[in-house]
Amino acid sequence: MSSRKRVTILGSTGSIGDSTVDLIDRNPDAYDVVALTANGNWQKLAAQAKRLKPAVVALADPAAHADLKAALAGTGVRVVAGPEGVCEAAAEASDWVMAAIVGAAGLKPTLTAVARGATIALANKECLVSAGTVFMDAVTRHKVTLLPVDSEHNAIFQVFDFAQREKIRKIILTASGGPFRAWSAGEMRGATPKQAVAHPNWSMGAKISVDSATMMNKGLEVIEAHYLFSLPNDRIDVLVHPQSVIHSMVEYCDGSVLAQLGSPDMRTPIAYALGWPKRLDAPTTRLNLAALGSLTFEQPDEIRFPALRLARRALQSGGSAPTILNAANEVAVARFLAGDVGFLDIAAIVEHTMDRVAHQSLTSLEDVMAVDAEARRVAQAARNLSAAAE
Ligand code: NDP
Repeated sequence: MSSRKRVTILGSTGSIGDSTVDLIDRNPDAYDVVALTANGNWQKLAAQAKRLKPAVVALADPAAHADLKAALAGTGVRVVAGPEGVCEAAAEASDWVMAAIVGAAGLKPTLTAVARGATIALANKECLVSAGTVFMDAVTRHKVTLLPVDSEHNAIFQVFDFAQREKIRKIILTASGGPFRAWSAGEMRGATPKQAVAHPNWSMGAKISVDSATMMNKGLEVIEAHYLFSLPNDRIDVLVHPQSVIHSMVEYCDGSVLAQLGSPDMRTPIAYALGWPKRLDAPTTRLNLAALGSLTFEQPDEIRFPALRLARRALQSGGSAPTILNAANEVAVARFLAGDVGFLDIAAIVEHTMDRVAHQSLTSLEDVMAVDAEARRVAQAARNLSAAAE
């Protein structure tokens, strides 16, 4: 049997997709790429496919199906399209799947890969926030190895003693604080999409960059950590650490605090997940603590950054509340990026939606999709909320 790992990348044209492809390009003898997917960026997907020669590529947006097919004519690569096409690509046999589609759109493809028992490297936190127990039940049922890629959860995974989990007092998720860490609410009111996506430390896709600016990203990560490490809300702390060098920490009963450190480059956690259980080389800038001089810490401010409070409220409520939070946030961020609402409206739309969509328990993917659709409808219809709150 070949020792080469068969790899699928869901969301290969994005920021996480790029970093994953970069690591695979540097280790050409270790991996066979089986499937790649994107939303609409067929040109980049075609270029990746010509180089990596997967069996199948999928575009979620069917509009460019014909262009992609023409670009890959004669290569032997199968080209499929539409959300079902992305699931078809996710179903193609492989050993390891990078789940890096942005948003709840990644849920069905990721669950398709879970259902065939592939190892899942999970970057797509929204699918875990949205489907929580439904997702984790599927992971358990199909005996799937789930490797966290989000840098904070990857850090915790590296220092979490699973054999002595009862000795763990709490975990501490670090947060950069985003581009508006030192801004007043008044200044944030006028924040533009360009300012919001300009993250001080990390280079990421637009949606997660806005989530970092509102600190909803940290809220989503608290919920993600709850599901990944089976810890309650009050044992998941958030600590602002503007340098993004300590990626997160675990505190044990004897007072020891174990941390994972590194420069802010997603290729470190991706390499960890790609090589797991062995370590791979990653071409990242090495950490130079003497040059950095100092690392600083602050409490998060839930008054200026209400998204964090809303995420904790959703986790406390349980059931469909995180699904509603996530769907409303996706809509609000898209509306902000389109210039339709202001920066402070993002959290206001999420709260408005959480107050209006009825809570229920979730037992199936269909339940999740129904709540997600209703929350999107309410969030899309919300008007002028942060102005009304003044
Ligand atoms: P990007 O926006 O850079 O990339 C998203 C990817 O998903 C692209 O390949 C995009 O295709 C594809 N996509 C978008 N919409 C759909 C859809 N409806 N159906 C199928 N595919 C779709 O995002 P990131 O790489 O930054 O983030 C990906 C995920 O990883 C997110 O969940 C994010 O929270 C998480 N994450 C990201 C980190 C980062 O450093 N970037 C860090 C930690 C977690 P196309 O290019 O064609 O639009």
